[in-house]
Amino acid sequence: MEKLLFRAVMKGIKEMVFIVKAEPDGEFTYAFLNEEAKMRSGLSDDDLGKPIQAIQPDLSSFLYSQYVKVVETKEDVVYKDSYTALSGETYYSKTRLSPLLDEQGECTHITALVHDITESTWAELDAEESRERALESRERFRSLFDHNLDAIFYLNLDGITISGNRAAGAYIGWESEPEEIHYREWFKEKDLTEVDHAFLKAKTGEASSFRTKVYMNGKKIDGLSIFVPVMIHHEVTGIYWILKDISTEMDAIKRFRDSEKKLRIIAENAQDLITLVDHKGTIIYASPSYRQVLGYPESEYEGKLFSHHVEEEYLPELEASFLMSIQQGTPWKLQLRQQHQEKEWMWTELHGTPVFDDQDHFNYMVVVSRDITFNKKQESRLEYFAYHDSLTGLPNRRLLQKTMEEEQQSGRQPFSVLMLDIDHFKTINDELGHDAGDAVIEEFGHRLKKCTRSSDLVARLGGDEFIVLLRGVENEDKLSKVADKILSAIREPFQLKGLVMNVTTSIGMTVVEKEACSPAEILKAADKALYQAKARGRNTFSILSLN
Ligand code: GH3
Ligand code: MG
Repeated sequence: MEKLLFRAVMKGIKEMVFIVKAEPDGEFTYAFLNEEAKMRSGLSDDDLGKPIQAIQPDLSSFLYSQYVKVVETKEDVVYKDSYTALSGETYYSKTRLSPLLDEQGECTHITALVHDITESTWAELDAEESRERALESRERFRSLFDHNLDAIFYLNLDGITISGNRAAGAYIGWESEPEEIHYREWFKEKDLTEVDHAFLKAKTGEASSFRTKVYMNGKKIDGLSIFVPVMIHHEVTGIYWILKDISTEMDAIKRFRDSEKKLRIIAENAQDLITLVDHKGTIIYASPSYRQVLGYPESEYEGKLFSHHVEEEYLPELEASFLMSIQQGTPWKLQLRQQHQEKEWMWTELHGTPVFDDQDHFNYMVVVSRDITFNKKQESRLEYFAYHDSLTGLPNRRLLQKTMEEEQQSGRQPFSVLMLDIDHFKTINDELGHDAGDAVIEEFGHRLKKCTRSSDLVARLGGDEFIVLLRGVENEDKLSKVADKILSAIREPFQLKGLVMNVTTSIGMTVVEKEACSPAEILKAADKALYQAKARGRNTFSILSLN
């Protein structure tokens, strides 16, 4: 009965049971193996009675020493072990060796109860590993927290600062332990509504950011703040306040805004027309000065082609300058006429500068145009004075010379040159004064203009000397008639400041037929003829042929 019970227990038991016999010669032989022991170790009943050293040589020395210990101490020995089963899997086990004593108290057998602890060992190992992992991630987090350049404060749910990282410490001036300060103390009253709102939001589990100034330790920080809820087991247990100093960014934005504002002020207030033109020549921006300078509001221009208000004859040059500038990246300058709302056309000088982006792609053309009507008027006045005599307003020697050259080059038709010199002019100057002399010169010019055609040219050479260039008068007969007409026109009494004066002139004439003659040669011939007329007693004319 006892044996049956023993077998039933041994069979049903999930542990491996080995019973080893301690032989008198110090050997240990297997005396019993339960089913589980047989299944896992691969031993069978055939191995009973055999010494363990012979059957399991690689295990035996350790086992042997444990068995010897049990025999000697007659006490239980417990050890942990691992072994590889027939299936190749590693099992972990805890073995209890118990001595079985005979009546004399000697140890004759040893029971080995091998308890499989594979699962719990794995669990332990897993726990160890995940503990290590948790430690590592904790350290990683710690490092992220400690070394973060942004300040991070840990606030409790009442908003009190409990701890902070190094950057936070530096802001507040913490030496070691932080003081428990409420976050509200670091903000200005006007920002608190926004900050409190963000804090309440974080308390409900939602991170929230805001941009305000933060006042810490006597310093003002342009801050970007984020309140991040600390969630543990789905509950908010505290708030991380991440504070980033964005002073540099704010500074850059401010500088950008300032310079943009300055540019805008310049553009809006400049007298010049400031225009941005895209690659197609369409105006994308026109300054308000457009209304002032050209009469139409700037909105009239935006979206239209720049060329639409430019006089047609300048368009090819404008287009060429524009394209060349984009191609070569160089500025350009052009004077042209633009349409004015009321006046017809207006002279403007354009300065174009192409603007490219970082990748060298053309962005737009900045065209600054200036009203140069006044300059143009000045220019033409200067030109007028360069070619006209200031006393009589008649063409001067320079214009005469130019006209004669043009006349010869055109080769249109022969022309005649009359050189006139007032007789005894010095006497007028001497007796009546220089002003009276001037008045005579002026009146002389008038009379010459009067008795010639508009197609003829009357010029003052200087002093009391004049030239008349007659077109289409090539024979001496016709010439004599003109000369007589002039002589009698001059002989008419001059009324000057209540005085009546008789003035006469002498005329030397030449007909220009040969294209090869230079103006100097022509004038020389006329001068020679004039000399003859003077020699003949004045108030007369003389004709000298060039050949
Ligand atoms: P002639 O009959 O030989 O021509 O005698 P003339 O006295 O007219 O002599 P001439 O033509 O050589 O003298 C010209 C004078 O004109 C000399 C100069 O003092 C004077 N004169 C030159 N330019 C001006 C001027 O702009 N205004 C005045 N009032 N006199 C001038
Ligand atoms: Mg004279």
